[in-house]
Amino acid sequence: MAKPIILTLDDEPQVLNAVERDLRQHFRSDYRIIKSNSGVEALQVIQKLKQRNDPVALFLVDQRMPELSGTDFLDQARKIYPDAKKVLLTAYADNDAAIASINTIGLDYYLMKPWDPPEENLYPVLDDLLSDWQATVPLPFDGIRVAGTLWSAKCHDVKDFLGRNRIPYQWLDIEIDLQARELVDRVSEDQYRLPVVFFPDGSIMIEPDDLELAEKVGLQTRATQPFYDLIIVGAGPAGLGAAVYGASEGLRTLLIEKKATGGQAGTSSRIENYLGFPQGLSGADLARRATAQAKRLGTEILTAQQAINVRVEDPYRYVTLADGKELGCRALIITSGVTVRTLDAPGVEALTGAGIYYGAALTEAANYKEKPIIVVGGANSAGQGAMFFARYASKVTMMVRGSSLSKSMSQYLIDQIQAQENIEVLVNSEVEESFGKNRLESIKIKNNETGEFQTIPAAAMFIFIGAVPHSELVTGVVETNRAGFILTGQDLFSENRKPEGWKLKRDPYLLETSVPGIFAAGDIRQGAVRRVASAVGEGAISVSFVHQYLKTV
Ligand SMILES: Cc1cc2nc3c(=O)[nH]c(=O)nc-3n(C[C@H](O)[C@H](O)[C@H](O)COP(=O)(O)OP(=O)(O)OC[C@H]3O[C@@H](n4cnc5c(N)ncnc54)[C@H](O)[C@@H]3O)c2cc1C
Repeated sequence: MAKPIILTLDDEPQVLNAVERDLRQHFRSDYRIIKSNSGVEALQVIQKLKQRNDPVALFLVDQRMPELSGTDFLDQARKIYPDAKKVLLTAYADNDAAIASINTIGLDYYLMKPWDPPEENLYPVLDDLLSDWQATVPLPFDGIRVAGTLWSAKCHDVKDFLGRNRIPYQWLDIEIDLQARELVDRVSEDQYRLPVVFFPDGSIMIEPDDLELAEKVGLQTRATQPFYDLIIVGAGPAGLGAAVYGASEGLRTLLIEKKATGGQAGTSSRIENYLGFPQGLSGADLARRATAQAKRLGTEILTAQQAINVRVEDPYRYVTLADGKELGCRALIITSGVTVRTLDAPGVEALTGAGIYYGAALTEAANYKEKPIIVVGGANSAGQGAMFFARYASKVTMMVRGSSLSKSMSQYLIDQIQAQENIEVLVNSEVEESFGKNRLESIKIKNNETGEFQTIPAAAMFIFIGAVPHSELVTGVVETNRAGFILTGQDLFSENRKPEGWKLKRDPYLLETSVPGIFAAGDIRQGAVRRVASAVGEGAISVSFVHQYLKTV
């Protein structure tokens, strides 16, 4: 596929050459750089590019030009390439024009001339805009293709893994697409195992697991060193928060994630209450931004690697991975979060992945256009899910065990749900049984107040019913409560006595566990406020306690 294009425009040859040189130096490997010294000529060039379906990612244009000002050029160019990012090169005197064009033509940024050094004044701005462009603009497709059936749990797992790791892929449903079926028949040699994943280099994988897929698509799965200052287990908001602060404050930091960065938040269709994003943002967007930030600051991130055990050998802490490797560190933060509770009713397990999903399973939503969908649960996550699915479904039925939504859901969401015509809320209701041959077809519902039953058609059911902590890896190492949530700080004191085995004179720090140097942050902690902002905040705070701890060892 042709590389996306950065077009730069300036009538002064010296400036134009300098911009071109700096752009090539940094972006040459991923982008084609085109330069022009005339606005009129550049407009003709982009007309031709459009005819060839070549993608243009960014215009970097001088404001002061004789025949067409930078703003006028961008105004014309955006009609041809509406998604391309628009950056103006300005002199001090052009400030007012630049500010005005933020509103008039949706200018993305204006840069002051001169931009030296480009590492500080040019590249960070353009990197940010281009990563935003890449994340939101679909390119002509020539990437990974996943062929399978909608009703296979394994196909769902593969799509979910790729989607949550922001690896673009094309879904080929072999029940609808005859060519895709032939493609699969040719390679599966009667075994008929699904999905079959086709890669652009011509290779294929049949029914791959997360680790195989991660390695194939180029995600980092192995640590580069045996020992780190700080290891963090779990790359949800708490782990990413800790990674950003740990790496930026000079700690050699490794973040280990078993599935995809972003954690539960990464599966949220829209987070509306995270500070600084007045329009809200999707969990995928938050995960992408936070991951890029943590990496840029120097964090190493392993994906598709599960930490299964923690061992203490003072003054070091060791983490064993599922592949048997052991990694050492001076301090450890557990941010392994929680996972959704499973629904125990006849038929549910058999149809999980075949119409029944836990959490928002956003990758599946588009498959249920104009079909009836059930959402089980009454907390905010269920409400957000219902609002998201309502965009696709003919009808969304929300099943809530309690007598009203107000006991468990924020008022802003209740208002949105009430205003959404195709959502119906059934209170006092529980799933009695689910039915379907190869895929979900209907649900039997019990009214827990009247004892009455009803069966309604359902193409999909998305379940949001509470959480179980991921603390198996520290069982018997640090203290947890009976449900498995990790105790930290003041929660470790019973009857004013320090935790068993605690030998230090000082008390455990705020987010420290019963083992000095092992910290816990986010949803995995007993008493955590299960919110993105608090998880991020705890991740950041835990790093300041890591520093205090490291001063003492
Ligand atoms: C659908 C949904 C919508 C939500 N919406 C909102 C919202 O709008 N606003 C809000 O404030 N909060 C929201 N929340 C809650 C919020 O997402 C959580 O409070 C937050 O994600 C907790 O962050 P965390 O980092 O503690 O844990 P998690 O997000 O659970 O992340 C933990 C990570 O650790 C990984 N992991 C677990 N065990 C291991 C292991 N052994 N080895 C390696 N990795 C491991 C997991 O794969 C996961 O990626 C929502 C939650 C859900 C499910």
